[in-house]
Amino acid sequence: MNPDTVSLIPKVDLHVHQESSPRLDRVLSRSTPREPFDWQSWSADMIARTPPGIERLRELASVHPVPQELDQDPELFIARHVDLFSEAASDGAVLVEVRCGRKSVRRPDFIPLFREAERRVRMHHPHFHAEPVMMFKLWYGEHETESLMSECLRLAGGVAGIDFVYEPYDREADWSLAYRVADRLSSEGFGITAHVGEFSTANIRSALKMPGLSRIGHGLQAAESPELLNLIGESGILVECCLTSNVKLGAVRELEDHPIRRMMDLGIRVGLGTDDPVQLCTTIGAEYARAGDLGLGDAELLRVSTDAVQASFLPEDAKARLRTLLEPFEHGLTAEGRKAFESDV
Ligand SMILES: [Zn+2]
Repeated sequence: MNPDTVSLIPKVDLHVHQESSPRLDRVLSRSTPREPFDWQSWSADMIARTPPGIERLRELASVHPVPQELDQDPELFIARHVDLFSEAASDGAVLVEVRCGRKSVRRPDFIPLFREAERRVRMHHPHFHAEPVMMFKLWYGEHETESLMSECLRLAGGVAGIDFVYEPYDREADWSLAYRVADRLSSEGFGITAHVGEFSTANIRSALKMPGLSRIGHGLQAAESPELLNLIGESGILVECCLTSNVKLGAVRELEDHPIRRMMDLGIRVGLGTDDPVQLCTTIGAEYARAGDLGLGDAELLRVSTDAVQASFLPEDAKARLRTLLEPFEHGLTAEGRKAFESDV
């Protein structure tokens, strides 16, 4: 894969977490003499001392380089979103869907601040779109889940979709609460996805029965079972693949073992995601390049972007605008195509 070709493709990051403390650390380190947290060394150490799988995921969630309370400052809240959006947009992203937590969603100023960050990045990258996706962690329990559901309904038209996470994550969980929430929110127009099949095949079947589900996050362990692959293919849902994350957290032993290529060959739609790009030291451009390393050619990488736009939780008019942007590239990934893309600014 020619790196120049990869750089031409308008990209979509369908699966990126907000990483509030790591982002704030990065933002604050720019205005102070201290260095930002060294995630490169940290992740190398973490991989050396922690067995692959869910324990690495827990370690990742346990490090907060700066106090999360700083996020209360509206300017810092905007600045950490600008950091995420501009990193993605500079790397060719036209859309990112950001996983946000309950603290963000409960802020009365959440959507105005999120849109302000998007506006600032659009001054330099006019085609860029960002959408917030609310993470529902089902271990919060019924009462808290009901309360968060009300918050989402209050923000209807602001929060684009819902992403379910549950416990146990790598063994069969009880999905009844998720089904109830998904049924209600999908009927109100929210997109539905779920973290599933990252470290085991458990829960994939249950997730596929969820009302309104159109995507799953990770999902790669489905490759262990032809029957699950069949079910996913027949359902038409898209699999959000996070290649670097899957390697670093040990969901696959090495990149070459990742089933993205096999899934595509079976007609399963796939998208790409950075998952936790600060902590895992990646970018969306690097993820497209890695997919290229796994044998996805120009046309297939373009299809990844086209399918991701289609499966995104954007409103239809915004999807149509992004489709128009991608169309010239279908006639050849050329420097001329890129110029047309840029002159359309
Ligand atoms: Zn994730």
